[in-house]
Amino acid sequence: MSEPATRAQPPEDLLGRLLAAADRSSRVTHVERIAAREGRRAPWPAWLPDLVKGRLTHAGIPEPWAHQAAAADLAHDGRSVIIATGTASGKSLAYLMPGITGVLDGDHVLYLAPTKALAADQLRAIRDLKLAQVRAATLDGDTPRDERDWIRRHANVVLTNPDMLHHNLLPQHARWTPFLRRLRYVVIDECHRYRGVFGSHVAQIVRRLRRLCAKYGSDPVFVLASATASDPGATAHRLTGVDVAEVVDDASPRGATAFALWEPPLTDLRGERGAPVRRTATAETADLLADLVIERVRTLTFVRSRRGAESVALSARRALAEAGADELTERIAAYRAGYLAEDRRTLEAALNSGELLGVASTNALELGVDVTGLDAVLITGWPGTRASLWQQAGRAGRAGQDALAVLVARDDPLDTYLVHHPDALFGRPVEATVLDPDNPYVVSPHLCAAASELPLTDADVELFGPSAPDLLPDLVRRGMLRHRPTGWYWTKRQRATDLADIRGAGGSPVHVVERGTGELLGTVDEPSAHTMVHRGAVYLHQGDTFVVADLDLETKTALVDRADPDYSTFAREVTDIAIVETLRTTEWEHARLCFGTVDVTSQVVSYLMRRPQTGEVIGEEQLELPARTLRTRAVWWTVPDEELEPLIAEDLDLPGSAHAAEHAAIGLLPLFATCDRWDIGGVSTKLHPDTGRLTVFVHDGSEGGAGFAERGYTGAARWLRATHEAIAACECEAGCPSCIQSPKCGNGNDPLDKRGALALLEIVLKGAATD
Ligand SMILES: [Zn+2]
Ligand SMILES: [Zn+2]
Repeated sequence: MSEPATRAQPPEDLLGRLLAAADRSSRVTHVERIAAREGRRAPWPAWLPDLVKGRLTHAGIPEPWAHQAAAADLAHDGRSVIIATGTASGKSLAYLMPGITGVLDGDHVLYLAPTKALAADQLRAIRDLKLAQVRAATLDGDTPRDERDWIRRHANVVLTNPDMLHHNLLPQHARWTPFLRRLRYVVIDECHRYRGVFGSHVAQIVRRLRRLCAKYGSDPVFVLASATASDPGATAHRLTGVDVAEVVDDASPRGATAFALWEPPLTDLRGERGAPVRRTATAETADLLADLVIERVRTLTFVRSRRGAESVALSARRALAEAGADELTERIAAYRAGYLAEDRRTLEAALNSGELLGVASTNALELGVDVTGLDAVLITGWPGTRASLWQQAGRAGRAGQDALAVLVARDDPLDTYLVHHPDALFGRPVEATVLDPDNPYVVSPHLCAAASELPLTDADVELFGPSAPDLLPDLVRRGMLRHRPTGWYWTKRQRATDLADIRGAGGSPVHVVERGTGELLGTVDEPSAHTMVHRGAVYLHQGDTFVVADLDLETKTALVDRADPDYSTFAREVTDIAIVETLRTTEWEHARLCFGTVDVTSQVVSYLMRRPQTGEVIGEEQLELPARTLRTRAVWWTVPDEELEPLIAEDLDLPGSAHAAEHAAIGLLPLFATCDRWDIGGVSTKLHPDTGRLTVFVHDGSEGGAGFAERGYTGAARWLRATHEAIAACECEAGCPSCIQSPKCGNGNDPLDKRGALALLEIVLKGAATD
């Protein structure tokens, strides 16, 4: 590890310089000063063998931090535990201590990571301990057949991912008998990644694993590692089904950080319906990156898309050249996911040595990167969760140095809200991870998979959650399972695990094929195909750009051509909702709030082309795609006509008010439900046939629901209040993408009434609980 370079200025001075350049002080909406923290060590656990202690000390660890020791003790005692602490707080040591100790006693360890890269990093860390008794190996889609045989027979630490567990290890459990019989620890790393429908699938996969372990006589202890999250024990319980103790008190040292919130200015450019356009977050970030590199400040920049990361690096280089600092242009690089581990190591080395001063990366670098001595982190747009925000910001000032972090807002309502409401970011716990292990659409295919692994008995069914008993008769009726006195049997020839597409939203996938070469580039799940690979869509694949020439829904194929358009595309959808069942209701003073099951019929009708650098809308093309219906969950609120008098008296547009409130509410829900704006949708109407009132719906985007709408219902008062504040905070006149316009609106953002949305939300929120 190289010596961190000395830096000329503490973070406050750095920020001062950024602001002085080009009079930018009005763009900083808040600066949070986060104090340094001393580290707290604990003695090595008494049960840790001297051999392991020696190797860890040799690897540069004098003693564990207190949180590492606490979690390790619990796991060693046989208690399942989740360790939820900050970036670089050394969570691995917490499971390595009991895990390696167990292996020396003949136990086995199964390690699950959401990405292959992270599993590879862990393998390296374990091999670096150079313990002959520890036979660790990664098992993923690329592992050759003969190596798999070796792993099954000899490995005592297997590092893999939920996908391999689902498709490979569990269905072939008979061949894994020796491994499962001695399985003592199951490590679930970065477990906050298992959220939404994907998280629900992983929860079911873990239940299948537990059932098979019980058959082979083992009862593994779960050790989960998570970014800081609220209520981590409850999330870990939902994921594993077992009781899990929490360790949340981070005892690792931290340098002081100045954390600035930054809002790019409005420009003279005009967007849809004449709305003002803000300078894009990527353009603004590129300037900041160039300024920091000129000051010789080592800076890591996070950008959501690969293309965005490349464009930030390119623009920053251009800015350096214009500033006459040509010699620095080579010291900025772009990084994207999918790079090989060796490339990543080279990049880390270049950053650590100071050879590289600036890197613009996708969120891929958030995980499993070993970089010390970074001075600044720039975050281009809200990364989706506070957990990710801290993970990214935590990359600066590692090794206890002081650092600067900047969050640059994009032009959407959530980013606007956050840069104007620092209290929503700082000094409050990060969000809980949302997943719903009881989603019947998720549970059914896993019941089939479980039955194909080992017939399901009455006693087993309970393990799969409260919805399982009701689902079984239906699976029997559909001919998927057969019920015999000894249990439920899978009788089909097909592989039962193919029924569950664990990373998709259901349906059979659409294949994306390059027209010229016939090469299969990837697949898109069916519900997403309409919005992602419609004719004319710009499709990104591993950093390359393609344009869709044709989408054939019959053959489930999208043909694409390599291209380099100077715009991105946004599919626009019109949606209808019918209420199937109202499950819960809350009455506020004027409004009624509901949660329930709905049928959502939506149709992609056109797509919009926007310039990524300026946000300018350059055109819209019509599409003819069939409507499709989804049964899912929604939260909705209704207001009776008589309560709407104040809006009518002020001549505010009712449909426009509801529509604007709907867009902004969709934009803000991700703050409360750890989802993405694209995971949810909405409908608003002045008069809905099922309610007879003005109604605004926000629904989950996947079959059966994902838990997001439900989270909106339980946190409705805070959510809608934040929605109101986001609209009020935007300084535009009549609405813009930073507040009430939506890039995926099927009605072309018409009608929208900004003032009306504020008035409507005030009426709705009257009498709502204050929390
Ligand atoms: Zn606005
Ligand atoms: Zn709309």
